[in-house]
Amino acid sequence: MSKLILIFSLTLFLSCNNYIEVENTSVAQQLESVTKKDTIKHWLNLAQEDSTFIMEMPYATEDNFLKEKIYPCAKCFLREDAANALLEEQKMAQDLGYRIVIFDCYRPLLLQQKMFNIIPDTKYVADPKRGSNHNKGVAVDISLADLSGEPLEMGTAFDDFSERAHYNSQQVSAVAQKNRKLLRDIMLSNNFTPYNNEWWHFNYKKKVYPNENFVWTCDE
Ligand SMILES: [Zn+2]
Repeated sequence: MSKLILIFSLTLFLSCNNYIEVENTSVAQQLESVTKKDTIKHWLNLAQEDSTFIMEMPYATEDNFLKEKIYPCAKCFLREDAANALLEEQKMAQDLGYRIVIFDCYRPLLLQQKMFNIIPDTKYVADPKRGSNHNKGVAVDISLADLSGEPLEMGTAFDDFSERAHYNSQQVSAVAQKNRKLLRDIMLSNNFTPYNNEWWHFNYKKKVYPNENFVWTCDE
C-alpha cells in the first residue's frame, strides 16, 4: 500500500515539477525504503572495498554544472560485477603508478531528469525516458591521478560539454591526448567500453540491469 501511495505522490510531483527535488530528504528516504532492501545487496560501495580511489564526486558538492548539491554525500555505488571490474582496473592503474579518480558512478534515475532539463542534448546527457547506464549502476565517470593524488592533465574538466571533451579532440595538448589514451587503455583491458563524446565516461560491458532510484545514506 505504501508503495502505491509513493508511486501516486511521485507521479503527482513529477507532473508538477518535471523532476524530483532531492533536497526534500523525505522523498529521498521514501525512495530508498522502497528499493534498498531489494537492490542494495547486489551493489558494492566502492570505497568500502578499496580506500585508494580518489573520490571527487562533484554532484555531492555545489561545484558542478547544476550548481547544486544533488547527492547527499560522495559515495560510489555500482552493480557488483561492474564494481569488481573497476577494482581490478584500480590495481592495474596502481601497478603503472596511477590512481583512479571517481567523478560519478550510480545515479538515481530521477536525477537524470534534472540534468536533462539543464543540458537537453543526448550527446552529453542521456534522455531520462530511457535512462543512462549510470542509472543502471554500470557506468563510471573517472580520471587518473598519480600515486600522490595529483590529477593528470586531460584537456578539459569533467562535464565540459564541448568538442574539446571528445576523446579524439585535437584541440587539447599532446600530453592530454596521451593521458586520455592511458585511461582508455586501462579501462578497456577489463570489460569496460569507452564513449567518444566524453573522455571520462566508461560503460561496463554488461548492461542488462534496470534503472534504479535508491538514494544512499551517509551515516557510515
Ligand atoms: Zn558518464
